[in-house]
Amino acid sequence: MITRRFLSLSLALSISAFSCVAVQAAEFTASNIATAKSLAAKAFKSDLAYELDESLSTEVGPRRVGTPGDQAGIDWAVAKMEALGFDKVWTEKVVTPGWERGEIAISISAPYPQRLVAIALGRSVSTPKGGIEAQVVHFKNLDQLKKEPAGSLKGKIAYIGYQMQAGIDGDDYGVAGKQRHMGSEVAASKGALAVVIRSVGTDHDRIGHTGGQSGNPTIPAAALSMPDADLLENMFKRGKPVIMKVDISAHNTADVETQNVIGEITGTEKPKDFVVLGSHLDSWDVGTGAIDDGMGVTITMAAAKHIIDSGHKPKRSIRVILFAAEEIGLYGVKQYYQRHKADIGKHIIGAEWDSGTRMIYQLRPGVGKESMPAIKQMAAVLQPYGVALHDSNTAKGQSDLSVLGNAGMPAINFDSDLTDYFDYHHTENDTMANVPPETMRQASAVYTAFAWLTANSLIDFRK
Ligand code: ZN
Ligand code: ZN
Repeated sequence: MITRRFLSLSLALSISAFSCVAVQAAEFTASNIATAKSLAAKAFKSDLAYELDESLSTEVGPRRVGTPGDQAGIDWAVAKMEALGFDKVWTEKVVTPGWERGEIAISISAPYPQRLVAIALGRSVSTPKGGIEAQVVHFKNLDQLKKEPAGSLKGKIAYIGYQMQAGIDGDDYGVAGKQRHMGSEVAASKGALAVVIRSVGTDHDRIGHTGGQSGNPTIPAAALSMPDADLLENMFKRGKPVIMKVDISAHNTADVETQNVIGEITGTEKPKDFVVLGSHLDSWDVGTGAIDDGMGVTITMAAAKHIIDSGHKPKRSIRVILFAAEEIGLYGVKQYYQRHKADIGKHIIGAEWDSGTRMIYQLRPGVGKESMPAIKQMAAVLQPYGVALHDSNTAKGQSDLSVLGNAGMPAINFDSDLTDYFDYHHTENDTMANVPPETMRQASAVYTAFAWLTANSLIDFRK
């Protein structure tokens, strides 16, 4: 007992002695913080991010991968980054599956003939020419559909009615998104001819929400607008068989090429180490992609520009990456990772914007323990902008950057209030009309301060 206590005591002493020597206080210098504060204050007064998003939304608009709009977006981003004064701007090729949306018509032929408003889900296949007409079977959610015996939906259409709930953290998207991602795969395994879901969204508008599907969908898949999902469910309540007509001409095509667009501010001391600001340049073809992810593209570009304009040069490089082909399955970042994985250790820390229309309310870190004092300093800089430090330390980065986060890159997640984000998400209403200028100013201030603080230090955020 005594020996063991002595051993553990001496071990503890030696660890703390070692710690005193080895642990450099991972803190930002006072002058780094002072510059970050003044940069954030300037960014907070600037409408640059909003103006860039208005430019992208007006001069390019929708940027679905493989479309002329996608290429126009790439050209816009390269020209804009060069004009903004980035030290280096380049593109990297990305190859993805191709898909055409085609036309869609969905209606009820019995017992109460009515037209329904719907949209095809990404990578949906077509119905046979002339469409299909079949009885619809109602499932409350994907789990209920999963329990259906194999083959039992032969000759029928599966309908999944899961209603997403709104919330500040958007948590229900995790559940609701699965209905869309997996719906056609599960319905096909039960023998269904097609799958129709209630849109993954929180609005009451008569427009459908599109979005990606996982795997290789083999049956046609569409989402009804909320009012039309209600209408269909009201018909089910009357107990008579509901017959639906579905005519979709969406189809897969040969692979298409697109590009990740990258702009860099070169660091003065460690130019080959960089801080990553992430977003995705592609969008769905409905709306103008002003929100998803035009906001992320232009908030991160503006953050870099505020640093360029200040005349201060960071010690490390700042790499703004506009990823391609996020919407159809993170193709851009996955191919970026394949190309750069030997250098993943040079990706010092990253933050992405790919959700929200309202203000950022919290900072969730995903860094080494020794870096927490610096993260607390960052939170203090951002506190006047309404950003609180969350007590977890497991963030991996949003969307695209989660791929790099899971590969070991430290990350910060800046969470914005998502209460109404899923009203507009992947719809015709993803336009500048729903981009609040005050969010663009606040988010610009946050990303500018983040980029400056981390790039102008030599802290190893993995520790
Ligand atoms: Zn997105
Ligand atoms: Zn999206």
